[in-house]
Amino acid sequence: MAFLEINKLVKKFGQEVAVAGIDLAVEKGEFVTLLGPSGCGKTTTLRCIAGLEHPDNGEIRIEGEPVTSTEQDIFLTPEDRNLGMVFQSYAVWPHMTVFDNVAFGLKIRRTGRAETKEKTTKALELVGLAHLADRYATKLSGGQRQRVALARAIVYGPRVILFDEPLSNLDAKLREQMRIELVRLQHEVGITSVYVTHDQTEALVMSDRVVVMDKGVIQQIDDPETIYARPANAFVANFIGVANLLEGKFLSHEGKFADIEIRTGNGAPLRLRALGGESASPGQKVILSLRPEDVHLHLQPPGQTLNVLEGAIIDTVYQGNFLDCQVQVGPHEVGVQMDHFEQLSPGQKVYMTFEPDHGLCLTE
Ligand code: ATP
Repeated sequence: MAFLEINKLVKKFGQEVAVAGIDLAVEKGEFVTLLGPSGCGKTTTLRCIAGLEHPDNGEIRIEGEPVTSTEQDIFLTPEDRNLGMVFQSYAVWPHMTVFDNVAFGLKIRRTGRAETKEKTTKALELVGLAHLADRYATKLSGGQRQRVALARAIVYGPRVILFDEPLSNLDAKLREQMRIELVRLQHEVGITSVYVTHDQTEALVMSDRVVVMDKGVIQQIDDPETIYARPANAFVANFIGVANLLEGKFLSHEGKFADIEIRTGNGAPLRLRALGGESASPGQKVILSLRPEDVHLHLQPPGQTLNVLEGAIIDTVYQGNFLDCQVQVGPHEVGVQMDHFEQLSPGQKVYMTFEPDHGLCLTE
């Protein structure tokens, strides 16, 4: 049994189904991120784990113990679940020192003086704030306040730590730095973590596994590399990064590849080969996902015949270390990322190729 288990979780607000029956198992020490667009149900899922929402259906177990079960009519209060929480708003008390802010969780648990001092000091050392123990919280920067919030969440040794967009109030540079620090700290303490964000980079950089959600439903659970390289469907491919999604028709399986037909400008359908499409059947509508960095652009007809697309330049945008090109291929617009610079003008005829291993046939 996993350390944290969610089974058939449903949460409605009136007619609105925020969480539509999700299952998730998190292992001890794992860092799992719930990722998805605004309103997809990630915060509601987190709040159900925390005991801040009563689910309409389902069960949540921590270390095998049900903390919520609609079937068994069990609902433990947040305090009885022994979880740590770090939210977007720092929730740091301004009238207290850094030390007292962090020690608070121990005091309400009636921890002795010596133990409180030892544990608080250790937590402050872990987040790199030991030297600011006596400073009032109002005199801290955003990043320091978020570290206080983190120290407060870990000081009493919770079973799981829950993060709800904790870095979204920080500026871009600090956010990047805090991502790295947070992961380092999580590895050091080895605490099981569930993290909520709508930022795909944050999710991919920080997590052991990413749970992509949409409309209260889990779309994919995988490690970051798999989520990026093998998105399960068009929603994930689109949400995770910039991908060209070309509508086509499934033709046949060719070993591990799928042959797909897409429409082109001159009306003749074009046969392309890509990975995936395992569940597709002939004639079915599919989506070909192609990352701009995996498409190669040629000014002359290339030597190969497999996976060649012919098109006309729409536009190019200089991006510093690469060039973004948009190419019209019949009804499709294909984005290409080039690391070398060519003089390209709108309307110019070009050819594009991609390796079958770099395309992905997705069903919706
Ligand atoms: P965000 O990133 O914007 O916080 P989210 O993915 O975390 O989005 P939730 O906050 O879980 O999404 O919301 C899921 C759905 O449930 C949304 O449509 C939201 O409007 C609705 N919802 C959430 N909380 C409540 C509430 N207290 N009352 C009514 N509807 C709610």
